[in-house]
Amino acid sequence: MAAAARAAECGLRVGIVDDNFSLGGQIWRSGSGKDQNHDKRNHPQPNVDERNDEPNDDNQNREAARWAHRVRISGVTSLCGLRVVHQPDPGVLLAENLDGFCELTYDKLVLATGARERFLPFPGWTLPNLMGAGGLQAMVKCGLPIQGKRVVVAGTGPLLLAVASYLRQHGAEIPVICEQASWKSLAKFGLTLFSWPQKIIQGFQLKRDLAGVSFAANSWPLAAHGQKTLESVTISRAGKNQNIPCDYLACGFHLVPNIELPLLLGCAVDNGCVQVDDLQTTTVPSVFCAGEPTSVGGVELALIEGQVAGLAAAGHASGARKLFGKRQKARRFARLLDRTFRLRSELRSLSLPDTIVCRCEDVSYSRLRQHRSWRAAKLHTRCGMGPCQGRVCGPATQFLFNWNPDSVRPPVFPARVETLAAVTAQSQLQHSEVTGGRS
Ligand SMILES: Cc1cc2nc3c(=O)[nH]c(=O)nc-3n(C[C@H](O)[C@H](O)[C@H](O)COP(=O)(O)OP(=O)(O)OC[C@H]3O[C@@H](n4cnc5c(N)ncnc54)[C@H](O)[C@@H]3O)c2cc1C
Repeated sequence: MAAAARAAECGLRVGIVDDNFSLGGQIWRSGSGKDQNHDKRNHPQPNVDERNDEPNDDNQNREAARWAHRVRISGVTSLCGLRVVHQPDPGVLLAENLDGFCELTYDKLVLATGARERFLPFPGWTLPNLMGAGGLQAMVKCGLPIQGKRVVVAGTGPLLLAVASYLRQHGAEIPVICEQASWKSLAKFGLTLFSWPQKIIQGFQLKRDLAGVSFAANSWPLAAHGQKTLESVTISRAGKNQNIPCDYLACGFHLVPNIELPLLLGCAVDNGCVQVDDLQTTTVPSVFCAGEPTSVGGVELALIEGQVAGLAAAGHASGARKLFGKRQKARRFARLLDRTFRLRSELRSLSLPDTIVCRCEDVSYSRLRQHRSWRAAKLHTRCGMGPCQGRVCGPATQFLFNWNPDSVRPPVFPARVETLAAVTAQSQLQHSEVTGGRS
């Protein structure tokens, strides 16, 4: 939204494509399930300024409303509920929605594909009602009733606190928040926050929202139990095992940048993040990247990088340069997050031999352990070849075995056969035009 508004304000013709049914990405996307259905059929316009589902998050709502307003008045076209799955030719994207597919052409492209949660496999992690922390929050935002439910929140990263606070505000009981980072790292993190007064204010707000909720550092889930659905979770809490009855386990081990589309377009990646220069340009000319794919740094960094990318795409480099100082500070925060919430090695032994690691293709830890690389595991076990295309098991195997997913192929998301057939038909047509129909 920041990139689009800034570029459009410079006079460019701009469109935003987002596979959510309303603009706003992971934090600001709006409304209940009912509203969203209504939205996707009749109002494919940003509605982040109309939301009221986060009673104690007024600052975020105001910021969201400001950007939604800028997007609207600068004349940006919003294409919501549309997902980019392929780039059949340079400058052409193939996208599909509920009704069909379309091609989008561009001169300049800003990729802002966000991040997803990292899951680590442990016994019972595939039971119903065990969800990603942000995933559960998103489901509650879409209407899942959480009032009176007991939710254990576990994993690592600041998202756990944001989610626990959100769920509590919506009536959930939170028996404990388990954070794998040590008290020592968290204390250092707290002290360093004095360079970011806004974060301290957010921290105090969360502390107030979560008053009375038990917070356990050096703690992580060991196993989830239940017959048909989750009934309880065993956690390791500062070295001791404890069983906690619960209705949901909201579990996420920080975030992983969504780099599949940038990789498909040929953008260079370093250490799991898209490489960009000062103006957010990737290694592919005319393709920019902003937000979580360049480093997981939260909404402030995403907004600054988005603005730099939008201004740079519009050829207004001097405007972009004015934001470099703010961006540098926000990037320092991203590095701090990375250091504080780095995964401890004990988590590598959470999986038992029969623990499923690739849940799309039912591949267990013991089968994967026999292989030396992601590629070999894929060829022999189909790990990473199901609907999620390695989005879940890829980061898990990277942590467990130090494997690197080595290639991305189109389509980057599961796509309908008619969409793929259209690409094939078109490339055949182009081929026959080139060869004069002789092939
Ligand atoms: C599940 C989840 C919940 C989160 N909740 C919070 C929270 O409550 N508070 C907080 O401070 N931070 C939260 N975060 C962190 C948050 O993502 C970032 O701080 C911020 O949203 C980053 O902005 P962004 O623009 O980089 O990415 P995002 O906000 O994630 O926006 C990226 C958008 O691109 C869309 N997209 C991706 N690929 C495609 C494609 N191929 N075609 C079309 N659209 C595509 C995505 O669906 C998404 O709407 C959450 C993260 C996740 C993963």
